Amino acid sequence: MGTAAEGRRIRIRGTVQGVGFRPWVYRVAVENGVCGRVRNDSSGVTIDAFGDDASLSAFERALHAAPPPAARIADYQATTIPPEPVTSFVIEHSAPAAECRVSIPPDLATCDDCVRDILDPTNRRYRYAFTNCTNCGPRFTIATDAPYDRGATTMAPFEMCGPCRREYEDVRDRRFHAQPTACPDCGPRLELVRLPDDAPASTVRTNGLGARAAVGRRFRDPIEEAADAIVHGLIVAVKGIGGFHLACDATSEEAVARLRARKHRDEKPLAVMVPALAAAEAVAVLTPAHRDLLQATERPIVLADRRVDAALAVSIAPRNRQVGVMLPYTPLHHLLLSDVGRPLVMTSGNLSDEPIAFTNDDALQRLAGIADYVLLHDRDIHTRCDDSVAMVVAGAPLLIRRSRGYVPRSVTLTTPVTTPVLATGALLKNTFCLASGTQAFLGPHIGDLENLETYESYRTAMERFERFVDIRPALIACDMHPDYMSTMYADTRTEPVVRVQHHHAHVVSAMAEHGIDGPVIGIAYDGTGYGTDGTSWGGEILLATTAHFERLATFRPIALVGGDKAIREPWRIALALLLDAYDGAPPAAADRLLASVSAADRQTMTQLVQGRVQVSLARGVGRYFDGFGALFLDRRRAAYEGQVALEWNQVADRLSRRSYPFDVHERTRPLELDLRPAVRAAVDDVVKGVPVGTIAAAFHNTIAAATAAAVTRAAAIVGPLPVVASGGCFQNALLADAVRASLTGFPLKLHAQVPPGDGGIALGQAVVAHAIASGHDDRGL
Ligand SMILES: [Zn+2]
Ligand SMILES: [Zn+2]
Ligand SMILES: [Zn+2]
Repeated sequence: MGTAAEGRRIRIRGTVQGVGFRPWVYRVAVENGVCGRVRNDSSGVTIDAFGDDASLSAFERALHAAPPPAARIADYQATTIPPEPVTSFVIEHSAPAAECRVSIPPDLATCDDCVRDILDPTNRRYRYAFTNCTNCGPRFTIATDAPYDRGATTMAPFEMCGPCRREYEDVRDRRFHAQPTACPDCGPRLELVRLPDDAPASTVRTNGLGARAAVGRRFRDPIEEAADAIVHGLIVAVKGIGGFHLACDATSEEAVARLRARKHRDEKPLAVMVPALAAAEAVAVLTPAHRDLLQATERPIVLADRRVDAALAVSIAPRNRQVGVMLPYTPLHHLLLSDVGRPLVMTSGNLSDEPIAFTNDDALQRLAGIADYVLLHDRDIHTRCDDSVAMVVAGAPLLIRRSRGYVPRSVTLTTPVTTPVLATGALLKNTFCLASGTQAFLGPHIGDLENLETYESYRTAMERFERFVDIRPALIACDMHPDYMSTMYADTRTEPVVRVQHHHAHVVSAMAEHGIDGPVIGIAYDGTGYGTDGTSWGGEILLATTAHFERLATFRPIALVGGDKAIREPWRIALALLLDAYDGAPPAAADRLLASVSAADRQTMTQLVQGRVQVSLARGVGRYFDGFGALFLDRRRAAYEGQVALEWNQVADRLSRRSYPFDVHERTRPLELDLRPAVRAAVDDVVKGVPVGTIAAAFHNTIAAATAAAVTRAAAIVGPLPVVASGGCFQNALLADAVRASLTGFPLKLHAQVPPGDGGIALGQAVVAHAIASGHDDRGL
């Protein structure tokens, strides 16, 4: 390398740490005859490059051309610096303080190069299920401590063989410092275990691991054998990245029915894994945004409309027009899919409501009643992490479960958190959040905090995450609901606790995602959340800053008889809507609705509603979806929370502009949106024979119009402010679109990377708690 005629400092921000970025920069520098150094710093990567003008320009062009697959360049800046007499290019170890707080990257889907390796019979990693490189492989789920280094992963017990070590130490190699690198000679092994069933003759057989000791004996490849079992309709538990999946033939009604029965999962949709994009196109209707999500290195489950001609068992998602599809993200998936030759159901390995199994012992015990075989291996999963789930709303990606592949990547806050905070999340679809400085880390999906197993997993995950992201909270944020396990957990902590109103937290999570401090007009629509008055809110339009909120509008409350029972039996809500709309005396036409409900049940319920016995009032927009859906689809029960609401969304005619009247009661504060006229108009429509799809569309359009009416009135008082939308209802693409279209003159900000539902609420809790605790005096309120 010649004398440096020029110097350039290049700062790159984005996802550039833990994704093989610095070795890649090194290689590009060496290829272009550039000297200097590259290092991580708190905001990304900084390169000091020296060389002549031509090589520096070539170097910069190459940096833009093809960064590592998992890297995201958000910002690139180059400035001129004085030349230095350096003669080589080095990867500098950064000072610990300068390192990005999180040194553990998220888990990355197998890259194309590694897929080629495992499919190439001449490659030494041919059909090797643990193949990975700097661009791919497990990260977060195998880390046992921070910083991220092989010794602090579950790969520590595997001693690298000579060839692997040479690759690991060669900066020009794709496996340079790939912490989990391995090969068939030195790495983890698969084993297929037959689980004992009721048949007395069954025995536990092992392969793979046994093969290592039994030199000379030939065993069939465990993957081939597992594939064989699946093809024959059996259920195989497959150890993945963040836990076990239960796999079966997705084209077989019989296999899927067996899985549902054993897992005690009635109708909740099951995710499907297909080998490649073309196979995904064959089962689902995909837009470019869907394709990007499917192929993203995070590999979420992507919800899309199921093709009518999809060769999938209908029982995968009964009464659901969508299907959750994902592409393989481990070598094991690639090999299994290719051996089976058809789509696989890949659902989390657990009994309904329990956390996903992630250790071998746990899987062998807990999945014994469900799976016929367990395909496991000796690389431990240290942290369980469920699959992420994404969808497309308003043409843009939206995460509705942010977990594997995304965790522990941070959300950048525009206003730094000066006191580190732990936010404990809500009750259902729980995630927690740790925030410090400008970084907020949402933890992995925990699930519904409704049993001890889940609570234990939650507690462990939080305490471990504190260590991983190196944040020791000095402040705890939680929901206001006194009965949430997440609130109870907060109370066990010694740090000061701030209780945050549920819908305020939703709105602030949207503000945080969009870098807005407020004030905003925040729309928070969900099923339920504890209000400051102790009642159930969920149709809220707020004037909000990070520290304060004021309720501008809400929905007229619905009588819920028997509380949560009404959510499982939404016909109760339907009847309450009718009684309210017709002052207790629905016309004969309305009696013909809810045909599946007996006259006796109807009468009992009417008496309870009218006598206000066991009645609580709920304002959740989600409850309106439940009630309308149950009424016009005649659904007595919901197999899972939100099922009827989802159906009500899916039957809606996408093109209909029909809308119903509603009232806005302006004398109340907050003003109240009253949908009784809409109930009556919809009943009239039934009499007129209007198709149910049109009625469902009109319902969506009415919620949107009522929202716009409330926002417009609010803006007249508080001024033109940004409008953000949050809450579980905004997973409904049709509603989100309708609200956006109705809010003419108010650009609506929706979520993208942070889930709108309770899986994203912890972010808002953290920001609110910090703002309140630090006496953040924000404008306006
Ligand atoms: Zn790779
Ligand atoms: Zn090796
Ligand atoms: Zn909520």
